[in-house]
Amino acid sequence: MTLTRIAFDADDTLWENEALYRNTEQRYKNLLEKYVSIGDLDSELFKTEISNLEYFGYGIKSFTLSMIETAGRLTDGCISANDLLEIIQFSKDMLDAPVELLPGVKEVVAQLSQDYELMIITKGDLLDQKRKLARSGLETYFNSVEVLIDKTKEIYAAMFETHDIDPTQFLMVGNSLRSDILPVVALGARAVYIPSVLTWAHEHDVAHLTDNGDYYELESISHLPELIQRIR
Ligand SMILES: [Mg+2]
Repeated sequence: MTLTRIAFDADDTLWENEALYRNTEQRYKNLLEKYVSIGDLDSELFKTEISNLEYFGYGIKSFTLSMIETAGRLTDGCISANDLLEIIQFSKDMLDAPVELLPGVKEVVAQLSQDYELMIITKGDLLDQKRKLARSGLETYFNSVEVLIDKTKEIYAAMFETHDIDPTQFLMVGNSLRSDILPVVALGARAVYIPSVLTWAHEHDVAHLTDNGDYYELESISHLPELIQRIR
């Protein structure tokens, strides 16, 4: 089978991301402790995030607005302006956080770039994702970078058109079944699922998607070159 292009998801596939959100959620809980009982904070914040996706999309900016909205709602508008400024500072700290590559990523990407066209396909804030890529030291290995507003089957199909991608020669690698694997498999491409230690609950919510194809699953990206050898 011919394989010409390999695309990688970025967050929690190439570098750590979810841990940053979990740490911030902890800081957020500590901040709100003086106002509300924190037991249901996680699920309240998650509810706000999901309902805000259609308005603000994915990424840190959207998450920040959801933290502010949830804080306002749960405190009946009593949260102080200083504490709102704290929440905004949380998000700036997230944006400034160093990019931590996952084990094996640099070696694998460098190796595969010798034989394949490599892409990054991610979603979220354009500025944040481009900045992380620049800091990652991986930029030179990739031929193109797409920051999509979402990763649905329709959006992948449009991107395949734009880049003149033949799905049968395309392989996608990522940590989310919902975003990286099932939609591309549905379009006739191949995919490699590499679960990460932490994954946002929304990315696990795949019950409504049909798993109508095969994908490969690996424990670590380090095994990817060997798998690609086998597929070919
Ligand atoms: Mg990801």
